[in-house]
Amino acid sequence: LEFRVLGTGSANPQLGVHPSAFVLTIENHLLLIDCGEGTQYQLLKYKIKPTRIKYILISHLHGDHYFGLIGLICSFNLNHRTEPLTVIGPEGLEEIILAQLKYAQSKLSFELTFLLTNPLNTENVLIESTFTVFSFPLKHRIPCTGFLITKTAPPRKVLADLLPANFAPVYYKLLKEGQDVYDELGQKWYKNSEYTQAMGPKTFAYCSDTIFDADLPKYFPNVDLLYHEATFSEEQVDRATFTFHSTAGQAAEIAKMAKAKQLIIGHFSSRYQSYSHFLKESEAIFQPTMLAEEGLNYII
Ligand SMILES: [Zn+2]
Ligand SMILES: [Zn+2]
Repeated sequence: LEFRVLGTGSANPQLGVHPSAFVLTIENHLLLIDCGEGTQYQLLKYKIKPTRIKYILISHLHGDHYFGLIGLICSFNLNHRTEPLTVIGPEGLEEIILAQLKYAQSKLSFELTFLLTNPLNTENVLIESTFTVFSFPLKHRIPCTGFLITKTAPPRKVLADLLPANFAPVYYKLLKEGQDVYDELGQKWYKNSEYTQAMGPKTFAYCSDTIFDADLPKYFPNVDLLYHEATFSEEQVDRATFTFHSTAGQAAEIAKMAKAKQLIIGHFSSRYQSYSHFLKESEAIFQPTMLAEEGLNYII
């Protein structure tokens, strides 16, 4: 599971800073999470093949989270994309995109499907063979959801060091499938629990724009990596509350309450030129915290 940051900014444009867009790689699947203005240029810059993106998740309809979507869809069309694309987002998104396509008289070369998130309750929006996506409600000025992505547990890991060198591949396969291995007389040879180890699922939670909400951690307990917005630092806590955003310290509180393993903060306001105090503020409450940095790939 890999999380790549394409944008660290918020709504106000700032030279050299891009709005929210992230790519989550799960084995051979690529998920684009939010699609701020110019995301397609960021995909080009970081050499991410857009045709590999099968799913796009949109948290809410503030422009810094989806104004890049119509451009990306139109470029897919220009390049004669044939792979189906599923966009998962709030009510209204399908209407907006279809209106833009209608008045451009664009007929798509690929199948475009929209799935709705639920701004009031957690909802299972996608089940794939190796991962699932749940949306969960965030508290923002307009309907907004976060996403929990779970990479389902891989097959058990066989502890090969404990097995004899001539161990038959057919028995190895049985162990990997979770079975005990018997000999020809039907007597147990190798107990699965002694010769294999369970590999836990991996989880990633994305908290886009939200006011501090103590209810949030219940949606992603013990998450492996939490991304949480931190638009302001603590001296602007009133402004954060007024605009339904969070501070770095509040993001850290959420990570602490969820018993997250790591935290990444981003969506910084354009009023700041450096973010070192964001890091300090968050680390005082939760470690390890990382600042979202454009282009960086975080391994989960
Ligand atoms: Zn935003
Ligand atoms: Zn917003």
